Amino acid sequence: MQPQIVLLKEGTDTSQGKPQLVSNINACQSIVDAVRTTLGPRGMDKLIVDAHGKATISNDGATIMKLLEIIHPAAKTLVDIAKSQDAEVGDGTTSVVLLAGEFLKQVKPFVEEGVHPRVIIKAIRKALQLCMEKINDMAVQIVEQSKDQQRALLEKCAATAMSSKLIHQQKDFFSRIVVDAVLSLDELLPLNMIGIKKVTGGSLEESQLVSGVAFKKTFSYAGFEMAPKSYDNCKIALLNIELELKAERDNAEIRVDNVKEYQKVVDAEWQILYNKLAKIHESGANVVLSKLPIGDVATQYFADRDIFCAGRVPEEDLKRTMKACGGAVMTTANDIKPNVLGLCKHFEERQVGGERFNLFQGCPNAKTSTLILRGGAEQFLEETERSLHDAIMIVRRTIKHDSVVAGGGAIEMELSKLLRDYSRTIAGKEQLLIAAIAKGLEIIPRQLCDNAGFDATNILNKLRQKHAQGGQWFGVDINKEDISDNYEQCVWEPSIIKINALTAAAEAACMILSVDETIKSPKAGEPPMAGGGMGMGRGMGRPM
Ligand code: ADP
Ligand code: MG
Repeated sequence: MQPQIVLLKEGTDTSQGKPQLVSNINACQSIVDAVRTTLGPRGMDKLIVDAHGKATISNDGATIMKLLEIIHPAAKTLVDIAKSQDAEVGDGTTSVVLLAGEFLKQVKPFVEEGVHPRVIIKAIRKALQLCMEKINDMAVQIVEQSKDQQRALLEKCAATAMSSKLIHQQKDFFSRIVVDAVLSLDELLPLNMIGIKKVTGGSLEESQLVSGVAFKKTFSYAGFEMAPKSYDNCKIALLNIELELKAERDNAEIRVDNVKEYQKVVDAEWQILYNKLAKIHESGANVVLSKLPIGDVATQYFADRDIFCAGRVPEEDLKRTMKACGGAVMTTANDIKPNVLGLCKHFEERQVGGERFNLFQGCPNAKTSTLILRGGAEQFLEETERSLHDAIMIVRRTIKHDSVVAGGGAIEMELSKLLRDYSRTIAGKEQLLIAAIAKGLEIIPRQLCDNAGFDATNILNKLRQKHAQGGQWFGVDINKEDISDNYEQCVWEPSIIKINALTAAAEAACMILSVDETIKSPKAGEPPMAGGGMGMGRGMGRPM
């Protein structure tokens, strides 16, 4: 079973004009239906099994959309906006798809009645512009605060991002870790300086944050037991050199007719290896990391000289070590001088659950940290990683762009009210269109209610009333099956998420509305023109 929504190639609509538009809108609707139920703290997760039988459990819109093999050209737009939301701000991926789908759904009757798509697009753009102004207006600026206050705020944002995920039970625990991890970075907050490692087993609360670089101990040969496992002020050689004796047949073919000759070849090999090892030893390094294998001879050699070594270190870990500790990755043993060695205050190899980890702490150059996640099943850990990614992105965003709005549908209800009020002041088709978009925005609180099993109509009525009376931060209260002031409840989201989500959703809707014909070129391998009589080319002269 392929996890795809059946929008098969054969069924692709090739009509033009209105029917084409309507069919595109319908296709988007079925995508929206696929992710609809995942929204919010009470959203459900999706189990997706791909063609190779790999199962993924996720609540993240972008991840789900990526895994669904969507082939409908218009519906793919939605996948793209989810991905871009993920890359740009990291959270709000389900919301953006829902909003785009709902905008389209609300304007569909107008398309069917023959309103020109350009008119609709113009109205959407106008509505978007009004929303942007309002969000910027309403967003609560986090003006220069004390460190403690800033921290509390960041933790709240992280907790809101995580409250819809599988790990929501542990969100307080993880929001502390996430904020620690992000605050340990330098001003640019580079995402790749936070490493996430997963060790199955143990409970989620055993997860820990290591300030510095950490990675799983690599495969090692006999001899490593004797190497020291902990150093202070160590010098690290980062290599891309193979320190292993090759089986002779791998390298070349040599014809020898006696044992002596053969011995010479072997001796030469050993000599080359020993020369390399000696150079590394001379450089003064006491930890040797290599991307390529380090064999048993080398391991023994290093152990005898009190040097720790690890081969087959994954490239990203090697790079992160290099960024954090300085130095350079060397591809030849000839120029290993003290100035290309990385430095760190403390190195040790430590047991974490069933795995051993190499930890580098007190790195002088870049600020970096590594999250070591513990937990039951593999899929569970993967989803935890994705959820933490959302939370990390949110914290980074909030630090960079420090203003927040209330979540839980509060901001959407307020924008909806704004548009409805505005629509009453204008005349013509635009009035109806803007009102339709206002209705579209209500999808977020409505879906939050639906997913929690609440009576959406009832709660939305209450919300409309509150907002009309000026309660601008009122949204769905997931715990009480009621409405509440979500700003006071600390359901906060960075305003940039909402800005980005609305812009992307409106743009996607406009794009789908502006397409009125799909022309598909034949697939590669198929005859270029079936049934045509021109196959032979013109210059042949004589008919066949
Ligand atoms: P997305 O992929 O769009 O981030 P989520 O499943 O994370 O989707 O759901 C996010 C929505 O859930 C947002 O609209 C957010 O305001 C809302 N939300 C998060 N936490 C709460 C809460 N505690 N109470 C009410 N709404 C919440
Ligand atoms: Mg989210």
